[in-house]
Amino acid sequence: MPGRQWDAASKAKVVLEGLKGGSEGAICKRHRIKPAEYRRWRKQFLANIARPLESRRVRPALGSRLLPGMSARVWEESAKALRVAQELIEALPIPVFFKARDGKHLGANRAWETYFGVDRETFIGRTVNELFASAPEVAAKHREADEDLWRSPGTRSYELEVPVHDGSVRHTLNYKATFAGADGEVAGLIGAIIDITERKRAEQRQAIEHRVTRILSESETVGAALPGVLQAFCETLGWACGARWSLDARMGGFRCEETWSKDDPAIAAFLAASRESTYQPGQAGLIRRVLGQGEPVWIVDVSAEESFLRGKPAARAGLRSAFALPIRLGDQVLGALEFFHRDTLQPDEWLLKTGVAIGLQIGHFMARAQAEGELRQSEARFRSLTGLSSDWYWEQDQEFRLTFMSSRFVERTGIDPAPYIGRKRWDEAAANLTESDWARHKAQLERHEPFFDFEMERVGADGNSVWLSVTGEPVFEDRKFRGYRGVGTDITDRKRGQAVLRVAYDELARSNAELQQFAYVASHDLQEPLRMIGSYTQLLERRYGDKLDADAREFMDFIVEGATRMKQLIEDLLAYSRVGTRGKEVRPVQLQVALDRALVNLRAALESSDAHITHDVLPEVSADDTQLTQLLQNLIGNAIKFRKKDEPLRIHFGVQDSGEEWRFSVSDNGIGIEPQYFERIFMVFQRLHTRDEYPGTGIGLAICKKVVDRHRGRIWVESEHGKGSTFVFTLLKIQKGGT
Ligand code: ADP
Repeated sequence: MPGRQWDAASKAKVVLEGLKGGSEGAICKRHRIKPAEYRRWRKQFLANIARPLESRRVRPALGSRLLPGMSARVWEESAKALRVAQELIEALPIPVFFKARDGKHLGANRAWETYFGVDRETFIGRTVNELFASAPEVAAKHREADEDLWRSPGTRSYELEVPVHDGSVRHTLNYKATFAGADGEVAGLIGAIIDITERKRAEQRQAIEHRVTRILSESETVGAALPGVLQAFCETLGWACGARWSLDARMGGFRCEETWSKDDPAIAAFLAASRESTYQPGQAGLIRRVLGQGEPVWIVDVSAEESFLRGKPAARAGLRSAFALPIRLGDQVLGALEFFHRDTLQPDEWLLKTGVAIGLQIGHFMARAQAEGELRQSEARFRSLTGLSSDWYWEQDQEFRLTFMSSRFVERTGIDPAPYIGRKRWDEAAANLTESDWARHKAQLERHEPFFDFEMERVGADGNSVWLSVTGEPVFEDRKFRGYRGVGTDITDRKRGQAVLRVAYDELARSNAELQQFAYVASHDLQEPLRMIGSYTQLLERRYGDKLDADAREFMDFIVEGATRMKQLIEDLLAYSRVGTRGKEVRPVQLQVALDRALVNLRAALESSDAHITHDVLPEVSADDTQLTQLLQNLIGNAIKFRKKDEPLRIHFGVQDSGEEWRFSVSDNGIGIEPQYFERIFMVFQRLHTRDEYPGTGIGLAICKKVVDRHRGRIWVESEHGKGSTFVFTLLKIQKGGT
């Protein structure tokens, strides 16, 4: 393939690609030229440009005469190539400049002029020191690179931050190449400047965000993360120190929490002063403004800004520019970050944007850290709760399969939960539950209802039954049913206790019934032979009375009296046993009616004793009315019987409301009872006096007790010997609206 024809303009374009920063290898490959050739072109190009500039410096009239040793044709060609090169350089969008061997500027293109804001014509003959008069360290760097080039000519490239026309600092990539004069000696250099600020900043921003992300992901708390974040920011961007401010919404105040600075005592003192006090919201101050507006704030020079309250300590620490940004979560401002620089810097849009992004990142982290902290706390609470409780904790999924069982389960029941995991409660039979019991439970779960004390009898490790009681509630997340969770208790001991109690109760009920039956049968069946004894004794007396002597008649009187007494005892016993066997249904009864009836029955005794009876307003009670009448009759009858002979008898029937029950009392001013007999008098046939003193069999109070017991009440006596007695009994109130 024949090689391409290269004209001067095309060659110049290729060389410029290299001056703009392209790599030599890539350029040669793209244009299919040899590196040696490319280098020759560059040399030629630079020599061509340098020559007229050089001549301008010495002020000969350009093109007016041939340079020594140059033919007219060569000159013409050179002049043409030069024009092309000059036009191209002029049109280049990147700043290009020329310098002589002594460092003095020979010229520059229009882009250079705009970049530095310097008039290129007047700058000719000046040095880099004047270009960067306000930044001598930048000028020094450039000079250093030039020195190096003079020492070993060729090309160089280096990065440098330089101030430009608007005062802002730009990242530049500087390419420099030497060119030779007509004598072949190095005559000067051509430089091209590529502004890489945007790229640098993107890299920096990425680096900061990357570092911040890593720090946040490795930290558990905001306090632990923030010093690293502040350091990352300051170090990457060259700021001197930073601090985080927290906002206490409840107190309305804000506080400096974490700080970071380079090792500098003056700055450390400034930060310490910041940390010392709590600030209240207001108008002035850097942080106040950020917290108030939720937007970043930039102060070019804190020593000149009156609204900046920490101006003095900041000035002492040599700090000038400041900028602060909000830490935000959505619309909520959670705090602020602030940074200080030793130089006065103009507001930097890019930095502000980067700061806002980091503020958001920290805001999210704070929300997450807080949520995690709360979770940890509630988990710890849950753990100590389940640790202290004898109950176990369980969880089920949407399909009601057991997914979790706390270790307390095996500790309590001895049952290995492993076979139950992944299965439903009803997959395993329970001795106490029928198919329909399970179906009911399942339906309840499918309705996502909570359930309480669901009892299951399972087989334990030793083959004995273990009783479990479980309580559960449905779990919803985002309104979606997620399963159940709950607790369980081992109720085996309770169940065993209940079973023992039930057996004892059944046994008691059975023997009681037997006894009742026995007492009834006995007393009933005893009456007949007793009647026979009585009637035949009387017959004997009637027919053979005259044949008997006085002793025999007296003996027969004893037999009759004994039979009569025995008859009375049997009747009493029968009455007593009937309280249990012949009792009527319990119904609402007006107590007044029962009392009236008892008093009618006692009319004769009342009249003869001249008793004065009073009573409170009587309620309606729920009772067997016949037994209630008997109860009152026995108590009032006793009061009449055991009255004092020398004192008018007073009886009061009182009522007291004591919550769930009524408390009734029959008080008299009779002979009273000694405390040691308070219990005994309620037993069958127990009495404290002879029949001669007071008639009776001792069954009355036993019947009273049985009646009250049957009505689920209590009865007792309060008395002082010789000062009257009060018999108290309770009855349950009628449950209004109950069953
Ligand atoms: P009885 O009246 O047939 O003796 P109770 O069972 O009614 O049998 O009474 C038992 C005993 O309690 C009586 O013998 C009497 O000693 C004592 N008692 C009962 N009521 C009173 C009372 N109101 N005052 C004093 N003692 C009483």
